[in-house]
Amino acid sequence: MRTHFAGSVFKLLFWLLVASALAGLLVGEIAWGLVIGLSLYIAWHLRQMTRFVQWLSAQRNDPPPETGGLWGEIFNSIYRMQRRDSRMRAKQQLVIDRIQASTAALSDAVVMIDAKGRLEWWNHAAERLLGFRAPDDSGQHVTNLLRDPRFVAYFEADNFREPLDIASHLNLSARLQYTITHYGQGERLMVARDTTRLHNLEQMRKDFVANVSHELRTPLTVVVGYLETLQDSDEPINPRWKRALQQMEQQSRRMQNLLNDLLMLARLENDDRTVEHKPVDIGQMLNSVAQDGRALSADQGHQIRLETDPKIRLLGADAELSSAFSNLVFNAVKYTPDRGEISICSWRDQGGVHISVSDNGTGIAPQHISRLTERFYRVDSSRSTNTGGTGLGLAIVKHVLLRHEGRLEISSTLGKGSVFTCHFPISRSA
Ligand code: ADP
Repeated sequence: MRTHFAGSVFKLLFWLLVASALAGLLVGEIAWGLVIGLSLYIAWHLRQMTRFVQWLSAQRNDPPPETGGLWGEIFNSIYRMQRRDSRMRAKQQLVIDRIQASTAALSDAVVMIDAKGRLEWWNHAAERLLGFRAPDDSGQHVTNLLRDPRFVAYFEADNFREPLDIASHLNLSARLQYTITHYGQGERLMVARDTTRLHNLEQMRKDFVANVSHELRTPLTVVVGYLETLQDSDEPINPRWKRALQQMEQQSRRMQNLLNDLLMLARLENDDRTVEHKPVDIGQMLNSVAQDGRALSADQGHQIRLETDPKIRLLGADAELSSAFSNLVFNAVKYTPDRGEISICSWRDQGGVHISVSDNGTGIAPQHISRLTERFYRVDSSRSTNTGGTGLGLAIVKHVLLRHEGRLEISSTLGKGSVFTCHFPISRSA
């Protein structure tokens, strides 16, 4: 095609030159004949070029001006390309419109955030749930509009593995769950879902457990009180009853422990603020926890070793931390045979503050490890009944750590022993 046109262009030029030379020859001026012929040729090209530029700059999809030869072919090819382009653009626009219409119809808020954290686009639900207003909020930084400190910390930490569940800033009785995903070059897609109904159901469950535990506590205290009085009384008791009374007291105490643990868990769960920032002397706390552990071990003769850095101060709630570490040490005592070794260590490094409790006890099979912090989960229920455990200890530890932005790491080998390590971020170190 190209050679065909190139050939016809050269042919045309050749015949023009021949005609000009002949015309020049007729008047006796070949050179002038050629000059005039070539000038006409160039003038024609300039004219076509001007028409071409005018047509292109009109930017309307009008058909090109009628012309023949090479210029006609150029006009037509570009016109065909333009039409194909606009058909493709229309198709793409249709797809974009459909995607936007479907995201706009979503009941969840969808927000596109650029690499600098500024709002790019959002759907109707984002206006309803998050109060964004177009076009004023476009280009605003997301933390200028969502100012809850927990959201700001979540967004700035840039770690979106877990969703964030907080009260809505527009309606404090509503709950929103934020999920953020990275895409493109540093852009983020944020989805906010109204979880009020789920949250209320969950709240009802927590309140129910807390209320039942609370209501059962008083009658149980009375029962335990009478059982103690009966056993302590000077009046002779039938030996058959004596054993029964002992067992009743033991089981009532177990029930009391269970209720106390349930109440503690309910309190930890209900309070979704992160915990206060009060410096806690970890060395001193672990010392007293170790003493409690020795008292629990009593004549079982466990060796409890303590290796702590006396300078460590952790920002948090004294009672909660003490309860978490006690649970770990008491477990080590409960699940380590007599005269076993238990060590409690604390240290600080660039990664934060770490507290570990290790033992050379029964150990835990790998398939149980990920489930240990679930409520009432026990590796061996009969063994737990013997040790008087409630099955709530590690759930409490997990919640306390969550409230201190920490995490629990468990490693264990069956028959060799276990290590429970609490990791706290450096921001919690005082
Ligand atoms: P429990 O009150 O039954 O001890 P926890 O939540 O404290 O409940 O612990 C859950 C389960 O994890 C226990 O039943 C026990 O099987 C296992 N476990 C916890 N700590 C240890 C440990 N140091 N060594 C071996 N097993 C442990």
